[in-house]
Amino acid sequence: MKVFIINLASKKDAESIKECDDTNGDVKILNVKTKVVHGYKGYDAQTGAISFPIYQSATFRHPGLNESTGYDYSRLQNPTREELEKTVASLEHATHGFAFSSGMAAITTVIKLFSPGDHIIVSDDLYGGTYRIFEEIYKKFGIEFNFVDTSNTEEVVRNFKPNTAAVFIETPSNPMMKISDIEAICEYAKSKGALTIVDNTFLTPYFQTPIDLGADIVIHSGTKYLGGHNDTLAGVLLLNDDALAEQIQLIQKSEGAVLAPFDSWLILRGIKTLAIRMEKQQENALKIAEWLKTHPKVEKVYYAGLPESEGYEISKKQATGFGAMISFSIYDVELVEKILQRVNVIIFAESLGGVESLITYPMVQTHAAIPPEIRERIGVDERLLRLSVGIEDSDDIINDLEQALR
Ligand SMILES: *Cc1c(COP(=O)(O)O)cnc(C)c1O
Repeated sequence: MKVFIINLASKKDAESIKECDDTNGDVKILNVKTKVVHGYKGYDAQTGAISFPIYQSATFRHPGLNESTGYDYSRLQNPTREELEKTVASLEHATHGFAFSSGMAAITTVIKLFSPGDHIIVSDDLYGGTYRIFEEIYKKFGIEFNFVDTSNTEEVVRNFKPNTAAVFIETPSNPMMKISDIEAICEYAKSKGALTIVDNTFLTPYFQTPIDLGADIVIHSGTKYLGGHNDTLAGVLLLNDDALAEQIQLIQKSEGAVLAPFDSWLILRGIKTLAIRMEKQQENALKIAEWLKTHPKVEKVYYAGLPESEGYEISKKQATGFGAMISFSIYDVELVEKILQRVNVIIFAESLGGVESLITYPMVQTHAAIPPEIRERIGVDERLLRLSVGIEDSDDIINDLEQALR
């Protein structure tokens, strides 16, 4: 019997191949662990180069008048960027992918799909830069943003208005690690003709594929887990709808916040180890969260993988893992500065998702742009610290925290 091994995406694709094929072949979809290693095309067909080439070219020679190789100018398309876009699309079970110079460049592109007068419901606990771009840049263009607790689906429903055009969620949320029910929100939004946009940076398609749960657009800061090495900024948008994709392509090629060929290659290289990094980082995170829970100076630990955490059941329903982001609050505010100074293995720095463990002070770093009243409501206070757990030895990380907390 013929076996088709397909790289492209979802069960739906597999079914449509089955329908077209009259030889009755068996369709096998590659596991995500294999897909991350091999990418979309994976290698260069012409030379056999195993590492996908970096097409460091701004422009492309036309074979003749009205003829194109498919590539004309790198703001429109570049083969290395395209390999990254198709690889992440395949991982997210999407048909379209677009890579940008940063996560924020991807988010700004999404917002331009909307018009003055549109209302967007946004998770109140989210990346500070996302809050800033909505409130300080796009509000003045007449788009209205409402920051609500999307981990409570009823809150989302209650805040819907006739002009609500989209719901924008981050789950797990940043930094309180709250879980929103993607499927329930998508279902309601769809019934009202609104889009659901999910920032999937924290879990990555290795643990969560929002499009399978009904999401219309998935966003990544590729700077984080996809790249995985704290060496490149990148953003990616993934979606299935052809008409929306056309609009995004128009914005991308018109504005030009595209990911450079070399940076595309770095993210592709990072993705090759996404599966083993996510597994190891999650394993470390669970150990560290359990240890932090028992520490007398720690008041509360926020990690979706703790069975007593509020979002645990929804997490298990909609994702295959909990990721490696932990927040924790300590009783003594005086200790914060000391911890940040004393950590040794763990690095005091912004960002997350890389192989190195990083510690962040959300109130003054990632969430400084969020007004105090919202910060207070969601629980981002002067005693909260956030940990991005890396791939180091878990005992070394725990020992480092132990001496820093002492
Ligand atoms: C970092 C981050 C962003 C912004 O991405 P950049 O690559 O820094 O522009 C957006 N969303 C989340 C969840 C992030 O962690």
